[in-house]
Amino acid sequence: MPAKTASETWPLAPGFNTGLAAIDAERQQLLQLIYQAHRLAEQGASTSSLLQQARDLIVCTAAYFRREEMIMQALKHPTLEATLVAQGKIIQNLQQDFNSRAFNRESIGEFIIFLKDCLIAHIINANKNLAALDSALNHKIVDLLSSAEPLNSSHCVDIYIVDDEQQHVDLMVEITSIAGLAATGFTSGKLFIEQPIANTDIILLDLNMPDMDGIEVMRTLYNKGCTPIYILVSGFDERVLHSVKQFADTKNIIVAKKLSKPINTKEFIHYISQLHIETRLQLSKSHTPQKQTINIKEKLSLEQLKTAIRDRQLVLFYQPKLDLKSRKTSGFEALVRLQHPELGLIFPDQFIAMAEENNLISELTYEVFRLATEDYVTFREAGIKPNISINISAQDLLDLSMPERFAALAKAQHIPLEVITIELTETAILQSVSDSLDILNRLRMKGFSLSIDDFGTGYSSLVQLYQAPFTELKIDQHFVMKMLEDDEALSIVKICILLAKELNMTSVAEGIESQEIWDKLAQLGCDLAQGYLISKPVPVDVCCRWVAENQPAQSFG
Ligand code: C2E
Ligand code: CA
Ligand code: CA
Repeated sequence: MPAKTASETWPLAPGFNTGLAAIDAERQQLLQLIYQAHRLAEQGASTSSLLQQARDLIVCTAAYFRREEMIMQALKHPTLEATLVAQGKIIQNLQQDFNSRAFNRESIGEFIIFLKDCLIAHIINANKNLAALDSALNHKIVDLLSSAEPLNSSHCVDIYIVDDEQQHVDLMVEITSIAGLAATGFTSGKLFIEQPIANTDIILLDLNMPDMDGIEVMRTLYNKGCTPIYILVSGFDERVLHSVKQFADTKNIIVAKKLSKPINTKEFIHYISQLHIETRLQLSKSHTPQKQTINIKEKLSLEQLKTAIRDRQLVLFYQPKLDLKSRKTSGFEALVRLQHPELGLIFPDQFIAMAEENNLISELTYEVFRLATEDYVTFREAGIKPNISINISAQDLLDLSMPERFAALAKAQHIPLEVITIELTETAILQSVSDSLDILNRLRMKGFSLSIDDFGTGYSSLVQLYQAPFTELKIDQHFVMKMLEDDEALSIVKICILLAKELNMTSVAEGIESQEIWDKLAQLGCDLAQGYLISKPVPVDVCCRWVAENQPAQSFG
């Protein structure tokens, strides 16, 4: 902001004195901001910078109103209610006027004058109400205001365009810039989810992308605790948009709008501008102190991952697997997390790949196994003797000493190997079928059970399935989640259940989030169920309490 000179002060400002220095200072500040925007318009600033100024002014006016509200509340002023109604009306009028304008210099210049006029009318009115205030209140008001959000706080809302078509990304970034807003484009969902994204950012998300589709992007961000505002874009028909909206609703994810391609440019410019104001107004209302971003990948370095594995920062969370017929708990899947002293709890999709790429996975898997055997003792002390499933990576299948080392860990805690299931994804097995068969057989011969995870995505042949000594088949959760709306997904789930039966394997459906899906799976004869409907993964002590509350006096195994 440029330094003020005496000649640059708003000529009308001195006439609005209440006699209370704190209130007067607030108004002067707001009027100066309006004056600066007005000057910019007069000097012929670009439309995009004026648009930015105009939007900022609406947000600043709302912030000023909240400060005024605080003062009146502290004074228990009799006109508080009426003032709030009047304030609400002004903000609504400002938004309406702004949104109905053409986005050009003259029109936005006129809007700034309109805003000034609305505010001055409000101040004249308020002055009548605040007349004859006791100046002894000055101190109290200064104290009060010091804890409030400043007038021109720069709550920023970032906009992202995520679409696999480069041309479309460029176009949308360009269109957004016409609204005076900056957007960042991504052509890959996978790359995008690694960015620092705040819950208050706006994401224009294409649903149909080859590397990671839009719903997967939403799900991944949701699992990281990140729920930004989405505008969904699809080249498909309304049905796709509708079913994604339903998914979002169950998770309380805000889908501000659904758009079908091709997008109406003019409408979009106005829409994004309006959404940006509304989000900022919402944000300043909730007094969010700072932008809270999820930026795990950028922060967790390889060094930190190494330290985490060696300094025992890994922890296991457990998710129950229930028998679909009897509803009894059959066991728990151990899912690793990294509890970092500064970065907080970090999920496996942020570090497993890094461990695999940097030759750390064998060490990580060993640590997971060690933790699982330690936790097993905790379960046993709570009177629970569950089956435990542990996830391993493709690279673990290259380590010939692995079966022996795992068996030794279990034996050290007197854990029968039969209660441990080793889960391996279908794609991991496909990477090294012949090499892995040897190790898989050795694990099986020692008594471990073997599960083929995320089944249905990797195209393994029946022969491969038949050759490998698997005892369990886990249907990929994406099929389970979609099975009620998508006939293809339903067919895949049915085939998986049949295949498991034919090959004498236990079928497991994971990702069950609704009773309807549970019922359908029970009807199809699936054996075991896992998913948020039953429980999210939880730490071992919470898991023991869950068993006590949900399934007391139950035998496992
Ligand atoms: P996975 O083995 O397929 O595990 C299931 C994932 O789905 C878990 O995510 C779980 O929290 C999540 N999930 C379970 N039920 C539901 C549900 O109803 N709805 C939704 N939306 N999600 C559900 P998590 O814990 O983030 O793990 C992600 C992946 O990381 C795992 O997928 C697994 O491939 C890998 N992973 C986890 N722990 C380990 C480990 O110790 N070693 C290795 N190598 N990989 C691991
Ligand atoms: Ca698994
Ligand atoms: Ca899985």
